[in-house]
Amino acid sequence: MLDEVHEECGVFSINCNENAIFNSILGLHALQHRGQESFGIVASDNSKLHSYHFQGQVSSVFDDVEEIRKSLPGNHAIGHVRYATSGSKLGAQPISGNSEKFGDFAVAHNGNLINVSSTREQLIEQGYVFQSDIDTEVIVHLIAGSTKGNFLEGFIDALKQINGAYSLVAINQETIIGVRDPAGIRPLVLGKLGDSYVLASETCALDIINAEFVREIQPGELVVINPDGELTSVFPFVQQKSSFCIFEYVYFSRPDSIMENRSIYDTRKEIGKTLAQESPPQNNIDMIVPIPDSGIPAAIGYAEHSGLPMELGIIRNHYIGRTFIQPTAEVRKVRIKLKFDANKHILKGKNIILIDDSIVRGSTLRNVVVMLKNAGVGEIHLKISSPTIKYSCFYGIDTPDCKDLIAANQSIEEMTKSICVDSLAFLSVDGLYQAVKGETRNDTVPQYCDACFTGNYPIGK
Ligand code: SF4
Repeated sequence: MLDEVHEECGVFSINCNENAIFNSILGLHALQHRGQESFGIVASDNSKLHSYHFQGQVSSVFDDVEEIRKSLPGNHAIGHVRYATSGSKLGAQPISGNSEKFGDFAVAHNGNLINVSSTREQLIEQGYVFQSDIDTEVIVHLIAGSTKGNFLEGFIDALKQINGAYSLVAINQETIIGVRDPAGIRPLVLGKLGDSYVLASETCALDIINAEFVREIQPGELVVINPDGELTSVFPFVQQKSSFCIFEYVYFSRPDSIMENRSIYDTRKEIGKTLAQESPPQNNIDMIVPIPDSGIPAAIGYAEHSGLPMELGIIRNHYIGRTFIQPTAEVRKVRIKLKFDANKHILKGKNIILIDDSIVRGSTLRNVVVMLKNAGVGEIHLKISSPTIKYSCFYGIDTPDCKDLIAANQSIEEMTKSICVDSLAFLSVDGLYQAVKGETRNDTVPQYCDACFTGNYPIGK
């Protein structure tokens, strides 16, 4: 995906582990693709919470691990990587709270609340002071203000007052809690490292610390890990239809992660194969060229099915940071040159199928097409391994307003012209379901959240 659509966050936790801080740093590093602007860790030494927050990427602090470890005594920790869309650019999670009844606690959140404005206004009227406009602070105040008898009951009480997509981890002096919203829109997995339980947004965060994958936290499930390392599971919310985000399969999750017992990498290859079935190559095509890295697995699947060679016609420079990501067309143009170069040697005079996973605004893709034409490419047939994105996401993904979504405002023919390609094809919604789940979409009760493609929002917006 070239248009900078992001997950807002990733979460991680580990209990009863003498390397809790180092393992949290590693886990958060593995989840970096879910949020690059800041990260934080809150640790418990069974009597007190200690917190560390950093504006920037996890790898920036690798040289300071010992210092961080010293500042965070404790064998239990939760952590968070953040991409700021809801709330100000500055600020990091986990967010800490305190109440006389519950003592110190902290919460980290992946997702987006949909009734947050009204809840925040009510809390302000009640005298609560907000330090940020991050959704998680609303949850923290709701917990602190709960009249329930203990932290767990207060936590559940707070969540019953909010609506939206959330995978949360929380910590107090003794306990770690993990929970997924009743529709299960955002992912959360459970792992085991020796006697320690690990919670993480994706299995790649388990792999990096050699933790074993146990299972996914179910939609609406809340797990409590007590100081003795025992795990209890409860389902405290009204049950809802599961609506896991299908876009995790298309783009957001790391290809080496496993979701719903499916390899993301294999699923993306299957998506590419289905794209080749729905939209076979033109007769004069010389090669399949993916947009790196997001288009590569689908391009492999497309190439395998079509029998055409896949070539790395675009080379990505991995050393560009996020410094240049600014929402102006001019800066985005410069950024393309910093990020990609055309592999002229293999592209010159060739007709190609260019594959990417999705189109959001289309402007960046246009710049890539210009770069390829300048490299001497003949025909460019663009194939996209997801359906057209016509609607914004309200569940924790940073998509632009509909007015900025190219597919919401242009027909396929218009997009073909404005992106300057010879043809353009998208995977169908049923094709995506077929590749991900092996069945077509149930239009009465869709198996996934697919609202950005269909406008069918599972829990309001
Ligand atoms: Fe995922 Fe799209 Fe649903 Fe957002 S609207 S949760 S990106 S499928």
